[in-house]
Amino acid sequence: MNTSLAGKVAAVTGAASGIGLECAKIMLQAGAKVVLIDRDADKLREVVGELGEQALPLQVDLMDGAQVDGILAQILKLAGRLDIFHANAGAYIGGAVEEGDPDVWERVLKLNTSAAFRSVRAVLPQLIAQKSGDIIFTSSIAGVVPVVWEPIYTASKFAVQAFVHSTRRQVAQHGVRVGAVLPGPVVTSLLDDWPKEKMEEALANGSLMQPIEVAESVLFMVTRSPNVTVRDLVILPNSVDL
Ligand code: NAD
Repeated sequence: MNTSLAGKVAAVTGAASGIGLECAKIMLQAGAKVVLIDRDADKLREVVGELGEQALPLQVDLMDGAQVDGILAQILKLAGRLDIFHANAGAYIGGAVEEGDPDVWERVLKLNTSAAFRSVRAVLPQLIAQKSGDIIFTSSIAGVVPVVWEPIYTASKFAVQAFVHSTRRQVAQHGVRVGAVLPGPVVTSLLDDWPKEKMEEALANGSLMQPIEVAESVLFMVTRSPNVTVRDLVILPNSVDL
């Protein structure tokens, strides 16, 4: 299997930490130039300083529609082309529906679904015009298995799965591939928002993964044979059997 990304440009959202950062690193190691997109300018500066000159920081707040609409122009200005767009940024909200704060729900739904879709809308014309490219989403196991204690997060990721499947079919004719990785729990700052008892349970069961384990799957997705469609690449620790 050829896992080289030499000569390619990837852009990853939410790349200043966690899964996005590890995906950016693995694509840099594979030879790509990588645009690291995040709203956190300080963290971006810090991580890009350690990654070398092929790593290019781009500060974008994905909650700001105008910034999202301008994302392709910014990527092309920084890196000259675009081959892989990884819609990874996301936020978590758990808890019972009746206790939920609808304003927080709306922010999570906006970032995980609308902003991700809008960023893909912004970059797709470039990939369609060049008749090649990969769109990857970081979805979640909660995008295919309804998790009872996180209804809003689950709803946001089910929507991602629906978007992936219908967009994949729509753009395949143009040589553009759309896919998703669906991890179980990964040790990142996102889990800071998990209920304490769930974290203790996950630690006791050995059911947490590291970001590199997701990044390896993303590298597989973007370097796989052009003849193969991969749907719903679920990544779970061995201790979890769904
Ligand atoms: P993380 O909190 O470590 O990283 C999220 C990144 O997104 C941060 O760098 C943050 O600054 C950035 N971000 C947040 N809001 C933004 C905005 N408005 N504009 C631009 N950037 C913004 O979390 P993570 O675990 O690495 O999450 C990445 C993705 O993985 C999310 O979509 C999440 O739903 C998904 N996921 C995570 C887990 C897990 O257990 N950690 C499991 C399955 C799926």
